[in-house]
Amino acid sequence: MTRTEKLLAELIALPSVNSAFTPFDGASARQARLIKFGEKNVADFLASIARRAGLEVEFQKVLPGRPNLIVRLLPRNKIQQTILLAPHLDTVNADESQFIPRRKNGRLYGRGACDTKGSVAAMFSALCELANRKSRPKETEIIFAGLVDEENAQAGSRALVADKFTGPVWSSAFRRPDGAGDHPNRLKAGLQTAALAIVGEPTRLQVVTAHKGSIWLELETRGKAAHGATPQFGKNAIHEMARIVDMLEMDYAVQLRRRRHPLLGAATVNVGTIRGGTQPNIVPDHCVITIDRRTLPGEAETSVRREIAALLRAKRLSAKISSTKLAPCLPLETSPNLPLVRHFLRSVGQARPAGVDFFCDAAVLSRGGIPSVVFGPGDIAQAHTADEWISLDSLERGKNLLLNFLKSLP
Ligand SMILES: [Zn+2]
Repeated sequence: MTRTEKLLAELIALPSVNSAFTPFDGASARQARLIKFGEKNVADFLASIARRAGLEVEFQKVLPGRPNLIVRLLPRNKIQQTILLAPHLDTVNADESQFIPRRKNGRLYGRGACDTKGSVAAMFSALCELANRKSRPKETEIIFAGLVDEENAQAGSRALVADKFTGPVWSSAFRRPDGAGDHPNRLKAGLQTAALAIVGEPTRLQVVTAHKGSIWLELETRGKAAHGATPQFGKNAIHEMARIVDMLEMDYAVQLRRRRHPLLGAATVNVGTIRGGTQPNIVPDHCVITIDRRTLPGEAETSVRREIAALLRAKRLSAKISSTKLAPCLPLETSPNLPLVRHFLRSVGQARPAGVDFFCDAAVLSRGGIPSVVFGPGDIAQAHTADEWISLDSLERGKNLLLNFLKSLP
């Protein structure tokens, strides 16, 4: 068993389900603690390994009991650039059996195996191996940022690039090897001006420079209630909505298919929920749908709302449009011509960058000013499934590719 595989098995055995998905009612005090502090348990576990490897460890306060883990490898000389390795520490929900890692036919099974504890293990092992070598970079600072809350509201990545660090965000200053205290602002500045972030997600070891975003909108129609025996005196809000659903799934979807991105293909729309009416013998005066609109780089919520409103007007349909997410998930588009991105592509032997459908922390970091790509072992097809697994081959290759890239930096 390799060290990376051992680490991944240990991480799977430490549940870190995002507490937004776990019901607290009915849970014992111990279970509730596990649910609430799962990411912290993973962060503490990794922190102890990092300290043993001679790395510097810091925690960034994000949510109560849920800090980002920051681990740093200093270069031998003065810092000229910073590289960020940024996988998330949380997972989606799972049943108990998925916290017992199982190895079978060259695969490791368990919750988070590919999304994204596989990336955590590969990135963290690469960093620890590098720390043990004499060949650590001369001028490049490498920071591992284990982020919380990616699967829900991406609070971890948002906090990392937040403009306003209010209160005691950093629990203490780093200690430099020469004994001098490093001001926390220096670390913050290093993080926020990183030359490249590699965000860990299962991309089948493809360097990904673009992904779609996601906007959730609510559309609401209003009618007029009347007795079911005399519907002609009312106005049926469900009927109005039925026309809108048809318009979205047909006309709008066709319109979106014509707009194509070279790495991502077309934007999409999905009507996900519908709710309306109270009983068969009342003309419904109210109907609501929610839609998931996957966006391409360059599209924003305002432009999406504007084009849906224009379609409604053209069809003489009427609905109130509002957003249902606290913050939309942004699309990602990083230039593959940035020198470090080209270097990374060359280093992993990939001719052209790739695009993926799913969104992740990369877009948040990118919007915060850090050029970001997505890279990691495993396949997104196995993410969030009841039978999540990762190929051990992919895991080991991922660690080696990352290590080679980090070793090649100045
Ligand atoms: Zn993920």
